[in-house]
Amino acid sequence: MIIAHKIALDPNNAQATYLARAAGTARFAYNWALAEWQRQYEAWKADNSQPKSSQAALRRQLNAIKREQFPWMLEVTKNAPQMAIIQLGEAFKNFFAGRAKYPKFRKKGVHDRFTLTNDQFSIDGCRIRIPNLGWVRMRESLRFAGKIMSATVSRVADRWFVSIAVDTVDDSHLPKAENQGAGVDLGVSALATLSTGETIGGPKPHTVLLSRLQRLSRSLSRKQKGSTNRKKARAKLARLHARIANIRSDALHQLTTNLTRRFHAIGIEDLNVRGMVKNRHLSRSIADMGFFEFRRQLEYKAAMRGGQVVVADRWFASSKTCSACGCKLEILALAVREWRCPACGAHHDRDINAAVNLKNMAVSSTVSACGEEGAGRARKSAVKPASVKQEASSRFSQK
Ligand SMILES: [Zn+2]
Repeated sequence: MIIAHKIALDPNNAQATYLARAAGTARFAYNWALAEWQRQYEAWKADNSQPKSSQAALRRQLNAIKREQFPWMLEVTKNAPQMAIIQLGEAFKNFFAGRAKYPKFRKKGVHDRFTLTNDQFSIDGCRIRIPNLGWVRMRESLRFAGKIMSATVSRVADRWFVSIAVDTVDDSHLPKAENQGAGVDLGVSALATLSTGETIGGPKPHTVLLSRLQRLSRSLSRKQKGSTNRKKARAKLARLHARIANIRSDALHQLTTNLTRRFHAIGIEDLNVRGMVKNRHLSRSIADMGFFEFRRQLEYKAAMRGGQVVVADRWFASSKTCSACGCKLEILALAVREWRCPACGAHHDRDINAAVNLKNMAVSSTVSACGEEGAGRARKSAVKPASVKQEASSRFSQK
């Protein structure tokens, strides 16, 4: 399993300049390749004997011209432009598969990053060696053991980070969770409601920071364009955004660590599909980070303890089904927080009932999947919702 550890860097001034230049080169190569991709695609559409766009061809094309047209590219690691184009290829792959939107141009200050392949850097305790740059200090050492795959250096506000991807040899090296299972209902009011009845609240310090965010954005809009004051205000705003994002990210990590530490089988809903409608009701920590990130963290952390995450399919009526008798309601308005089952008379809290249903689903599906050891994360149903397929195939026509 490949997991990434993101570590803050402490570059000196010269190193920070190099990192910014490498990120700028990666951004330039990505945007150059995206524009070329579109141009070549149009040419291919007009005349099918023309070659189709591909990341491998674009990399060769850039290599052939960079010495002459973009000599400054040679000042940083060759990985910066090359990996950026490979990432563009991945972005198109995800787009064609219906998993992502059409690739966008990278923006300065937003997508400042570059990636190194594992032959281009080395790690020694609290430092990382980057080509043409030497050793850069890291705030902590790498937490995971295994084969190092790649490193992505990125800037958030005015700080640099490196995210190191590691292929862990032994996935389940942490102690097994004590409890058999739990269901998790991602919340409207709380971050999550568990089948045990617990509610886990979102991070608190928001209100103060969010009002400061509003004030700073207003102050930025009043500053004259191109002025030093505007630049300062923008940097301040970026730092605050990063801080709020960190608080939310922390809350999500704490939640997923807590769950996987305590429960062996964890049942969740598939919000990728329903999420289109439901996402605006999710707590901000999950809405901002995305359901995919919640699920990703849960799955890799569960795997470290030999646990399982079971994702209910989109037809699973977790809210409308009575967890006591299995009776299914026709309709349950979102505003209804509590209800009584017409069949058995059980009184339900909407979220806890949904979580209990998810727990039952998770526990029963991991028990029945026991015979197939090593099958990995069991899914309740392998059937992909039709709407996603259709969407993907209509997007595919671009190819
Ligand atoms: Zn009932």
